[in-house]
Amino acid sequence: MICLKHIPSLSFPGTTKCRFLTECLPDEEHPKGLGRCSIYGSRPHTCRSFPAKLNDSNELAVLYEIPSNGRDGEPAYDLCPRQWTASDLEPNDTIQSLVIAQYEMTFFKKIAAIWNQNPGEWNSFPEFIDIIYSNRISSENKSDSNLESPEADDKRLHSAEESGSYRKAA
Ligand code: SF4
Repeated sequence: MICLKHIPSLSFPGTTKCRFLTECLPDEEHPKGLGRCSIYGSRPHTCRSFPAKLNDSNELAVLYEIPSNGRDGEPAYDLCPRQWTASDLEPNDTIQSLVIAQYEMTFFKKIAAIWNQNPGEWNSFPEFIDIIYSNRISSENKSDSNLESPEADDKRLHSAEESGSYRKAA
């Protein structure tokens, strides 16, 4: 799961924005200012597929209705001036992003469950995450020193926790 950190907005004091949103202050041409994603090429799949979700069979995308305002009527959180249509999204890219986002969410929930079984200090969580995500690839090549049996695959997530190495930073 990706939870994009919010930071104070410069254009709209008293409100917050995604930390990756670059703001340009309002001018005559753009009275509400401009905002651009500073990581557009690497933005999360959830952003890429907004505002779609997978249908019940996980085969098709469904657009959900966007409210006119994201939070409490504050004008800074006004959203799209019209509802999105299917033609606003590229079909294959959207489905692929939704599938990846769903897969990664399932994976992260598994990691979170492991962490929550025996949570360490909060500042050791990034190292725990780093160990998990750095060890997602194994090899069937017998000459590969990183060889792991199929049975070991299900235990790979647990190994980081069992080693306790991620707690050294705590
Ligand atoms: S597209 Fe996503 S990452 Fe980029 S500014 Fe918007 S919410 Fe943030």
